[in-house]
Amino acid sequence: MTERVLAGVPASPGTAFGGVRRLDAGGEIDGTVLDEALRPAAAARALDAMAQSARELDELAAKLRAEGRTEEADILDAGSMMAEDPVLLESVENAVLSRGLAAASAILVEVETVARQLDTLGDPELAARAADVRSLARRASRLASGESGGTRRDTVGDAILVAPDLGPADVIELDSDVSGIALAVGGVTGHAAIVARGLGLPMVVGLGNVILSLSEGEPCIVDADNSAVIVSPDSARVQAVRTAIAAAREAHGRAMAARALPTVTRDGRSVRVLANVATSTEVRAALEAGADGVGLLRTELAFLEANHWPTVTEHRRTLEPVLAPLRGLTATVRLLDFGGDKTPPFLKGAHGRGVELLLEDAEALSAQLEAILETGDATELRVLIPMVTEPGQVRAVRAAMEPIAARRGSRVPLVAAMVEVPAAAVMADRLAPEVGMFSIGTNDLTSFQLGIDRTRPGGSPAHHPAVLRLIAATVEAARTAGIPVEVCGESASSPLVMPLLVGLGIDELSVGAAAVARVRAWVRALDFAEAATIARRALDAESAAQVELLERPLLALLDDAG
Ligand code: PEP
Ligand code: MG
Repeated sequence: MTERVLAGVPASPGTAFGGVRRLDAGGEIDGTVLDEALRPAAAARALDAMAQSARELDELAAKLRAEGRTEEADILDAGSMMAEDPVLLESVENAVLSRGLAAASAILVEVETVARQLDTLGDPELAARAADVRSLARRASRLASGESGGTRRDTVGDAILVAPDLGPADVIELDSDVSGIALAVGGVTGHAAIVARGLGLPMVVGLGNVILSLSEGEPCIVDADNSAVIVSPDSARVQAVRTAIAAAREAHGRAMAARALPTVTRDGRSVRVLANVATSTEVRAALEAGADGVGLLRTELAFLEANHWPTVTEHRRTLEPVLAPLRGLTATVRLLDFGGDKTPPFLKGAHGRGVELLLEDAEALSAQLEAILETGDATELRVLIPMVTEPGQVRAVRAAMEPIAARRGSRVPLVAAMVEVPAAAVMADRLAPEVGMFSIGTNDLTSFQLGIDRTRPGGSPAHHPAVLRLIAATVEAARTAGIPVEVCGESASSPLVMPLLVGLGIDELSVGAAAVARVRAWVRALDFAEAATIARRALDAESAAQVELLERPLLALLDDAG
């Protein structure tokens, strides 16, 4: 078989190699019309499959709840309730008895009708449930076809899960032998992608139906870092990927073993390592890996399908499970960063991004602040403002927050500004007196400063001198005002950028949950004085390529640390 490269969209970073494990097998609608005589038995099989699915989801939810994974358990409970819904069960039964559909097809067709209704009801929470409901349909239809319901199979070796789309339940119960995920459809910000990122499972989506034509066991590489899946890779490529994966696993094991050690450079500079999260799954993974707390909670990801500004209740429901494990720890909750590629249906056509949009709707801002102050009460709370461009925006947020805090009798939390557009870095000396912390978002900052698309494969070079100069200006303004500076963009976990950030004087690095242990190890491997000298030279370099040459001694240190 010759090697084939399929292009997709990266939804969770990393590289994995294994044999295809199809999740859609047995779950297809066939055109068969059953003989009258066969229909009662088929209807019974369909109903049994629905009941068995409910039992499996209940068991899985109980297991997750026992592990404190309540948010995921709640998602599975909703699927289980759907599997027992009398109206749905009646329509599945009728589809077999009156229309002669096979058991698996009846389930798929009838559950899809429910999912479509959820899609169009106009309630963001219900619309988000559509993927969960479709996941139930796949499970029940597999059971009706005589296969096991979940993603578990008794195969040996690593598996690459291949499916049209995935519900979070499918990802949550993955066997430990699943090392990567490839989807025909799927979104980058969907539930499943978020859970995959939390678990550190490489995932590529949007590969098209061609991925569904692969046969069970066919070898393939999920290369999320290069936005591709390589089918039947040649032996040289397999060898290279295997070596890289083994080295990464060994390094991760070493980093996890040392996760409790303090994050202090060899010459004694302390750098806190926190986590970027959107779900409680990621919070748990981050804390297990030694994170000092959460440096960025992306609140908007829970509301990307919203048809209205989220209400206090909706905010509370999404914040509670994420903030509960952070009692006594840093919890940096960012206000909704809608706009750009994170524009929900109700804001289609609106201009602006982040705080600018939020300040146009006083009620929307108050609703979120109210829920944050309530659910974050037991944490070391910090409220982070996205896409700040001028000091007045910070003052406006504070003015909205103070009466809420006074009414609740809670203290006003630390207010922090994202520095993620060049305007904020240039204005850092004016912004610093207004805030308790800066958080530099290098994803957007690099893209705006260099004029390149932040989603471009391979990432964008935050170690370009033009970006480093903005970071240095931000740190200088923060020093003058006596406030700390965090970096929460992807660059904080990039070996090319992280040492320069430390060298420029960054106090906190906030990284994806799966990168926490590794970045902690990197901090301990660095010498601050050496990193500072090289970072100063990097500010005078002409290009990112020149900076890479300067950095060689630092990269070698990180390599040794994993
Ligand atoms: C950033 O821009 O670096 C950042 C952390 O914000 P987001 O990735 O959510 O836009
Ligand atoms: Mg940003």
